Amino acid sequence: MNHSASRSLYDRALSVLPGGVNSSVRAAPQPYPLFVERGEAGHVVDADGNRYVDWVQGLGPLLLGHDTPEPVQAAVQSRAAEGPMYGMPTEIEVEHAEFVCRHVPSVEMVRFVNSGTEATVSAVRLARGVTGRDKVVVMQGGYHGAQETTLVEGDADHPSPSSAGVPQSFAEHTLPVPFNDEAAAREVFEEHGDDVAAVLVEPVQANMGIVTPENGYHETLRELTEDHGSLLIFDEVITGFRVGGLQCAQGKYGIDPDLTTFGKIIGGGYPVGAVGGKTEYLEQFSPVGDVFQAGTFSGHPVTMAAGLETLKFCAENDVHDHVNELGRQLREGLTDIVADHAPEYTVVGTDSLFKVIFTRADDGPQDDCCANGCRQDPSCSRYESCPKRGTDVKRAETERYARLFRPQMLEEGVLLSQNQFESNFVSYGHTESDVEETLEAYKEAL
Ligand SMILES: *Cc1c(COP(=O)(O)O)cnc(C)c1O
Repeated sequence: MNHSASRSLYDRALSVLPGGVNSSVRAAPQPYPLFVERGEAGHVVDADGNRYVDWVQGLGPLLLGHDTPEPVQAAVQSRAAEGPMYGMPTEIEVEHAEFVCRHVPSVEMVRFVNSGTEATVSAVRLARGVTGRDKVVVMQGGYHGAQETTLVEGDADHPSPSSAGVPQSFAEHTLPVPFNDEAAAREVFEEHGDDVAAVLVEPVQANMGIVTPENGYHETLRELTEDHGSLLIFDEVITGFRVGGLQCAQGKYGIDPDLTTFGKIIGGGYPVGAVGGKTEYLEQFSPVGDVFQAGTFSGHPVTMAAGLETLKFCAENDVHDHVNELGRQLREGLTDIVADHAPEYTVVGTDSLFKVIFTRADDGPQDDCCANGCRQDPSCSRYESCPKRGTDVKRAETERYARLFRPQMLEEGVLLSQNQFESNFVSYGHTESDVEETLEAYKEAL
């Protein structure tokens, strides 16, 4: 496969963009990233004209794939034709918010912002403002965007910045605990309960492998936050309108968070984020309340049109059935292939998320119980070696994935997540033949 156009674009990019990219993970592919020319349904075509089955799907936002359906196209074009934006309210923001409030069980009001990062920044500020407390409990290996409160590693006794530029004095307000560890959650509340503004958690850890919650884990977080007057914030930037369909992961798992952050899918492929939640909290945002929040581009009409029409299209068509069914076929197919070719690896995922983690398991092949969405079932034969938290994925064969496996999949015409930690995403543009082609490629490459 010829990649010379991508190579020379990367050469130019390295002179004017740090690392040649505008977001770190895009530089992960070895030896250099492919530059994309265009998308077509479940495929992308690169700068050299090579065509791939694309499981990156914009890193999550493209639930409908690259060819947006006619009503979405039409709404975007007619909004854009009316002038890009105004700095004044528009009807489409109200309609989008009404849709989200109607479908997501815990959400009564929404504040739109421009990225998932901005959503988690605003949600954390709101939780601190509402409670008058500073500390935020996060999960080790969780991801909430590029922001000061969550770029923190270590544990609750020794938090430290995970990025240069974050002061240690900021990191001290963050308490990282292991995901899926109820005892650790109880302990951090025993010690710091009265100072905890919020627990910020992804319902499914989907940025460091795909790690599903053990039964009862989110229930424990809900109970602890309620008992201590802290807020429970679900970061549904990835899971929102993907896991659990239109009711999101909170509906699927039956949890009632105080605040929810959204991003990715709700912008229909355009920059977006949102904080949703109970009126009593959301009305603490300015201009009603004292927690300042603002944004020139927030509720951007073109984004709102793309997002709302995408969600309406999902409500009126079999989008979630389609993507979840292909997700199931992929997980089942991969479970068989892994059993034959790499029994130490683990297939993970749920709904339209899937991934093979290059674990080093030594307890026999995986049951097919995981193929339909692992719930970390203790009766599963692979329970012990299945990743329980994002940080477990770090111990996997990440170099083999990056240097050998992913490049070979590329040669086979299949584009997978840019490193071992990101999820793969099924879209409405994918077909059963994309699934078959992908499974054949895994057979070759594993
Ligand atoms: C992608 C993501 C974010 C950050 O969103 P951006 O739009 O990239 O700023 C936050 N939280 C989760 C769970 C995400 O997956």
